[in-house]
Amino acid sequence: MAALNLEQLSLTRLKGVGPALEEKFRQLGIHNVQDLLFHLPLRYEDRTKIHPIRSARVGNVVQLQGEVVSNAIQFGRRRSLHCVLSDGSGLISLRFFHFSAAQKNSLAPGTQIRCYGEVRRGRSGMEIYHPEYKVLRADQEEPIADQLTAIYPTTEGLQQGRLRNVINQALDLLDNSEELVDYLPAAVIKKFSLPPLTESIKLIHRPPIDAPLSWVEAGSNPGQQRLAFEELLSHRLCMRRFKRFNEQQVAPALTDTTELTAQFLSSLQFELTGAQQRAYSEIAQDLSSVSPMLRLLQGDVGSGKTVVSALAALKAISNGYQVALMAPTEILAEQHYMNFMQWLDPLGIRVGWLSGKTKAATRKSTLADLASGTTQLIIGTHALFQESVDYQKLGLVIIDEQHRFGVHQRLALRDKGEAANINPHQLVMTATPIPRTLAMSAYADLDCSVIDELPPGRTPVNTVLISNERREEVISRIEQACKEGNQAYWVCTLIEESESLQAQAAEATAQQLSEQLPDIKLGLAHGRLKPEQKQLVMNAFKQGDVQLLVATTVIEVGVDVPNASLMVIENPERLGMAQLHQLRGRVGRGAIQSHCILLYQVPLSNNGKQRLSVLRESTDGFYIAEKDLELRGPGQVLGTQQTGLMTFRVADIGRDAILLDDVKVASEEILQNAPQLIDPLIERWIGDRLDFINV
Ligand code: ADP
Ligand code: MG
Repeated sequence: MAALNLEQLSLTRLKGVGPALEEKFRQLGIHNVQDLLFHLPLRYEDRTKIHPIRSARVGNVVQLQGEVVSNAIQFGRRRSLHCVLSDGSGLISLRFFHFSAAQKNSLAPGTQIRCYGEVRRGRSGMEIYHPEYKVLRADQEEPIADQLTAIYPTTEGLQQGRLRNVINQALDLLDNSEELVDYLPAAVIKKFSLPPLTESIKLIHRPPIDAPLSWVEAGSNPGQQRLAFEELLSHRLCMRRFKRFNEQQVAPALTDTTELTAQFLSSLQFELTGAQQRAYSEIAQDLSSVSPMLRLLQGDVGSGKTVVSALAALKAISNGYQVALMAPTEILAEQHYMNFMQWLDPLGIRVGWLSGKTKAATRKSTLADLASGTTQLIIGTHALFQESVDYQKLGLVIIDEQHRFGVHQRLALRDKGEAANINPHQLVMTATPIPRTLAMSAYADLDCSVIDELPPGRTPVNTVLISNERREEVISRIEQACKEGNQAYWVCTLIEESESLQAQAAEATAQQLSEQLPDIKLGLAHGRLKPEQKQLVMNAFKQGDVQLLVATTVIEVGVDVPNASLMVIENPERLGMAQLHQLRGRVGRGAIQSHCILLYQVPLSNNGKQRLSVLRESTDGFYIAEKDLELRGPGQVLGTQQTGLMTFRVADIGRDAILLDDVKVASEEILQNAPQLIDPLIERWIGDRLDFINV
């Protein structure tokens, strides 16, 4: 048989995979047989023994075998299929909340099955919910597993057993052909004592019987480490190449200095902090170069990044270039617009506004002003980089809250300048402190400035944890604070991403609070309000006409109301630590002591308790970010949605951080001695996820 290239081999070549199943695989990011081999187990289960039912205890994970003795649909709070299994030693219930008529029939009394699952205490005593099971046939011996069973991440409608079967077929192919190319050069493999690729893959999918059950979660499987290494390496190479490419592009050298900067600085009511000055001088240095700046400006909430970005904007404008400032949400963009208008309009600079909601007529004239160069600074949401938007001479792009934008959007905006044969400089601002380890691999393409000092006169926020059983107490505390002339936030959280559900929750809470606090002027802000309505509420809050603002997490970024000194966050355990830290940053902006109440739902998990305690104990965003990474635990890869960073297939940046130093060395080795391997590695690990990189 001719060797098969698994990288190109279609899934439909495997037994039982048709177009419908192929689509399910696509949802898992699996497009070919190679992807299937890189789809690694989440954990292992030991199915090498069959347990007597009599020995099963609540909490045990067991494999049982016996006869179905009864089978009935039960109606209760939820309809379920209830089967009783007997093996002569005892009885146990199996319960299915999702089931088909065919499934019910296949589990008719008298059927012999083997099943696997966790024993719980259910309605009828010991029960297993949704066990994985197999119907046994009288004429056929069903072998018992002689090695650990791999459990894979899957998606709705794709059963674990089916997925495992298809992966097994892929592994068999791997046995018969040598066509999964190992791209790592021998020198790298040797230097870091990595196992060969094929061996690594087999080791992960088919671990030896004596392998520790927690091998995957702990990240200590050598095969898995090898793949994580290769993946991190590919990402690093990708970033490095992009950075090199960037260095070869031509950007306007913004060297002129004018009176504008001095005028601006003297109009401010404060002096820049040392950290702000340092960050700006790094930026100014970059801007004066002919290769495009790619700089990340990190600074905790309230550290004063906006002023620094204004200085950068002034530099570009005084050199005759346009500036685009993009923010992820309408609220934040509007806040910037108001700030910049206030700062720059008096200096005679023409500041424009563009969002997805800008009306057609206004939009037309805004676009004309951009194309003619009349508008010098444009502020808005991602509407700024839609195709119809043309710039006359775009020299600098500023992106606030980087983590909300994908890399793609960042580059689309940059293309705007390129059309006119200039590559704009880029300044990316983020208030999400990125742990050093993460920054190294995720942002290898960016230079970094850090504002590590808060403006003087801030009092750190005092954070307390209170259980929702003491909700009434918290409400009277708000009443007290408002009576004393302070303002407060009440933040509603939901697990669901849906904005409309969030909005509903906030509306219900606002209703309830307004009944309990009839004398307090209350406002409501959420993502479903029209921009005008939202603006009205925010302005009223800013001016003190609203005392208590009930809001969803839309207020997370950018909102600046110094008189607000109390924040209640409902169900904080639902949010990430970084997000909580961001939210909390909305208070503590004035001179008075501010408080943040984390109103948690009991019972709180151990991990939840630890995470909230970190917030209580520290207001240092970088410390919190490091802890976050630590407490998230293995297996929890940072999601794109959450951070805007690249997601990894195998690597876990927290767990595998120890590999990063070696990855760095290996990437230099490849750049120097084996550049021909860069393309295939990037193609294998990043592929279509980063198509822009093909430059
Ligand atoms: P962030 O870094 O979170 O975006 P902002 O730029 O919104 O922070 O700044 C937060 C607040 O601090 C603003 O009201 C801003 O005017 C103020 N501020 C910024 N720099 C200084 C400074 N050097 N001294 C005093 N206040 C400052
Ligand atoms: Mg900001």
